[in-house]
Amino acid sequence: MIDCYCPYCFVGLDIAEICPDGHLDRADSYDMKCPNCAKDIEIEVEKNPVYYANKIEYHECMECNKDFRLEYDLIIPPKKYADIAPFDVMLCNNCYWKLFYEDMYGENWKGDANVKTCTI
Ligand SMILES: [Zn+2]
Ligand SMILES: [Zn+2]
Repeated sequence: MIDCYCPYCFVGLDIAEICPDGHLDRADSYDMKCPNCAKDIEIEVEKNPVYYANKIEYHECMECNKDFRLEYDLIIPPKKYADIAPFDVMLCNNCYWKLFYEDMYGENWKGDANVKTCTI
């Protein structure tokens, strides 16, 4: 069963398989190396509903330069930004989906990218 995905190589991680000793039952988080790309990753476990109050983060969109509210920790970067580490690709929803559809349907895609709009 795939429990989560490596934030670097996106391979699916089966925690029961990687961590058969039940370590995660005793800890809230567990540092390990991804079995696929060998990068250090932290597996976080949520056992009960937990509420977190986080700062709202705003970032400047690399496409339209508007500030937007960061909602996703991880996106698969569009081809245009494929050379940049996924965490550093800052795109508002609108621009992300526009590029996403351009990647899928080509440069001349003229559809409506307004699936979602910028928060600001
Ligand atoms: Zn990996
Ligand atoms: Zn944008």
